[in-house]
Amino acid sequence: MAPAQESSTSLTKEISSVPLLDVGRGNKKIRQEILKKISEVYDAGCFVYGPDCRELESRIAEISSAKYAIGCASGSEALLVALMAHDIGPGDEVILPSFTFFATASAVWRLGAKVVFADIDPSTFNMDAKHVESLVNSNTRAIIPVHLFGQCADMDLLGKLADQHGLLVIEDAAQSIGAKFNGKACGAIGHVGCFSFYPTKNLGGCGDAGMMTTDDEALSIKLRRLANHGMDPRYYHSLVGINSRLDTFQAVALNAKLNHLEEYTSSRQDNASYYRELMDASGLSEMLELPEADSRCEHVWNQFTVRISAGRRDEVRAGLKQRGVGSEIYYPVPMHLQECFQSLGYRQGDLPHTEKAAQEVLSLPIFPELTRLEQEYVVESLVRVMRGRDGLKLAS
Ligand SMILES: *Cc1c(COP(=O)(O)O)cnc(C)c1O
Repeated sequence: MAPAQESSTSLTKEISSVPLLDVGRGNKKIRQEILKKISEVYDAGCFVYGPDCRELESRIAEISSAKYAIGCASGSEALLVALMAHDIGPGDEVILPSFTFFATASAVWRLGAKVVFADIDPSTFNMDAKHVESLVNSNTRAIIPVHLFGQCADMDLLGKLADQHGLLVIEDAAQSIGAKFNGKACGAIGHVGCFSFYPTKNLGGCGDAGMMTTDDEALSIKLRRLANHGMDPRYYHSLVGINSRLDTFQAVALNAKLNHLEEYTSSRQDNASYYRELMDASGLSEMLELPEADSRCEHVWNQFTVRISAGRRDEVRAGLKQRGVGSEIYYPVPMHLQECFQSLGYRQGDLPHTEKAAQEVLSLPIFPELTRLEQEYVVESLVRVMRGRDGLKLAS
């Protein structure tokens, strides 16, 4: 489709699409470096653990203000192993946000503990400490704050609450490597930090990988053992662990990317500021809600998520798609309303802020290599699409 009105802009001629994420752009720049190291590992034949994995662990420990970091196979398994290390199981309750990726909830479910969903603070999309407090009872063992979209949950209030009730705090930091709360990096604010290096994360590998961080030495030993069949020394099992080892190829790729993490993060932050500037200048900030940054947090912008009100979101997304602009809904169905968790007995209306967010959120391209021109195209497209009701007709 080529609406006649659009020929008037110069941008349209130069750009015809903007992907939500293009991992190829960043990866291309370090291709030689990574492939050279990978061929060395290939020749050495040391594919699991080894020095590259140790290097990654010590660097992640440093970034996340933790004394210890333990590699594992994914962010999902980091959460699982962290819970296993504390013997979470039947009879225990674990409180986590419903507005998160599935893995936060499934780790708890899989161990037979009761998943208890908390609502979010609508301004940050993160778990609401007041609601969490109302859910704590004598069976509550742990809370899992998720630092969603790159911004830390309120670790002041949640930390106090956990101290008061003797709860374990497992940070789901999958989307927030490098984010800080009151000057302290996420990962060791709670008892265990769980990171993911899935390709869409701020530090993304070339496949799956994850990491657990902690300040507790005894716990670090247990986490490491659990992620390797509970085995130490070889073929002696003191615990029933799983196979969740970090593979060396991923560690190689991640070490190479880690050299650039600060650049990536500051580009994401610049992109977020530029969106804000463009959306203010174009009047868009009156038509949709921009993401709010908690002033106590250094936001690392894994996602730039706007809210588009009541029923228009899907139509706007379709309009953006017509103009070649990628976007995504993180997340369309809150965890408490997922089919697989039906037996927990939640109903529509139970977590109103979560349900409203699921109806309204739309994440826009924010990856580090995104250009200014592309951002201008995204914002121009949004303006056109959102004004479309009174002008441009969207469908057909
Ligand atoms: C990506 C993600 C996970 C899971 O990480 P994987 O490495 O994909 O297993 C867990 N929690 C959140 C919030 C995530 O975004």
